[in-house]
Amino acid sequence: MQANDAWTAAYHQLELQLGRARFDTWLRSAVYLGFEDNTFYIGVHNGYAQDMLQHRLYRHIRRVLTDVYGEEVEIQFEVHKAQIEEANRSQNDEMPLFRLLAQQPSEDEAQPLHEIIGKPKTPDLPESELNDKYLFNRFIVNSSNQVVFEAARAVADYPATVYNPFFVYGGVGLGKTHLLQAVGNACQERGYRVLYVPSEAFTNDLIHAIRNRTTAMFREKYRGLDVLLIDDIQFIGGKETTQEEFFHTFNALVNFNKQVVVASDRHPRELATFADRLRSRFQGGLVADIQPPELETRIAILELWASERNVSLPRDILHVIAERSSPNIRDLSGIFNQVAIQYRMGGEQTSRFRTEATLSRYHSPRRRLGVLHVIKAVAEAFNLDMSDLMSKKRASRINKARQVAMYLSRDLTDASLPQIGSEFGGRSHTTVLHGCNKIAEELETDKVLSARVQKIQNQLLEGG
Ligand code: ADP
Ligand code: MG
Repeated sequence: MQANDAWTAAYHQLELQLGRARFDTWLRSAVYLGFEDNTFYIGVHNGYAQDMLQHRLYRHIRRVLTDVYGEEVEIQFEVHKAQIEEANRSQNDEMPLFRLLAQQPSEDEAQPLHEIIGKPKTPDLPESELNDKYLFNRFIVNSSNQVVFEAARAVADYPATVYNPFFVYGGVGLGKTHLLQAVGNACQERGYRVLYVPSEAFTNDLIHAIRNRTTAMFREKYRGLDVLLIDDIQFIGGKETTQEEFFHTFNALVNFNKQVVVASDRHPRELATFADRLRSRFQGGLVADIQPPELETRIAILELWASERNVSLPRDILHVIAERSSPNIRDLSGIFNQVAIQYRMGGEQTSRFRTEATLSRYHSPRRRLGVLHVIKAVAEAFNLDMSDLMSKKRASRINKARQVAMYLSRDLTDASLPQIGSEFGGRSHTTVLHGCNKIAEELETDKVLSARVQKIQNQLLEGG
């Protein structure tokens, strides 16, 4: 079935299923914008509708759409210009709060009023924030990270009981995000309401809520959690409004015995542009650092990756890579990805030779690559303009190039996922992660793409 037909069919089913009031308020004016990469892009008339559809009604709509379309799909709701104009003609866009509240959908419309009031429904969260690759059993433990690992396990086993907040800090690529997500995955599995959010996404969410006057929803979203994992907190340094809101969120959660886990690139006392009260709150639980992994740990990590990816790399090669890579495990993974591709494509001899070349490229003094360097190189290789990659265009060739650029940005630069996203026309960290994973998957089987990516990568590493 064509995607737009599937949307139309789902739309009519939803009209029956959601009930008149809900459908009219949130979905009636939604329009099909496009379909790319198994994602439906749907235009809606304002930020309220977008929030409601993307968060609260998302699972329901996705289920219907997946059934109709016959394949797992995702949906991206976007505020759409033409829709806004349309809505402005028919009604005032600034819905008063009481009306908004009156229109909050409840899962079961027949539920008696006293029950609805007594037990507010907590909103559905976006499902894609946790990555199921980041698990405790994929985290190699040794003396450099044992303390922080055990603490994370304890937090996951007994949220809000042992260490609250739990504050993890350490340098780039040492596994902070992995640990936060592992706590999140473990808690989610046991039915806790979990949200993982990079601090920049928290900021964006807040700005969005203020702009669209949905701060009540914002608070409900964050304060209704059992476990909040906030990554790279250093990025809200100097942002007073965000810090203020975060302070209140933090207190609301911790005071009600909900777990907060924070990751940072430095110790709380070194968060110089933070309010004192926030810094001292961070130190009210356990502060644990994560140290660079030793050689044996790096080897063990490489062995884990090789077995997962099913590539047989000779032991001595693993050893050489581990020995010569920097402590940053992100770099290690960049090198590993390249070498794995080489071994998959070529014979043992050439691969050995190429591994050597890869390693020296990584280690010869090179400029620090930024996301823009990567975008430039990928645009050239795909015969596109840099602006195409940074635009919202979704033609499949542009999309593929964009995902390759995201993948390489992750491998070759120090930028965080939200930072990468912002260079690509303000995309979310989840979109970036999705793009990276997609390319990583395709590289396993697509030799043409592999060769192409490899070439761009070499160029970037060699370029002066
Ligand atoms: P950070 O958030 O500290 O910058 P990440 O959590 O993103 O670092 O880690 C970078 C990469 O290294 C990820 O792919 C992660 O899975 C991996 N990694 C880090 N530490 C370990 C470890 N001890 N065992 C296995 N993989 C690890
Ligand atoms: Mg991180």
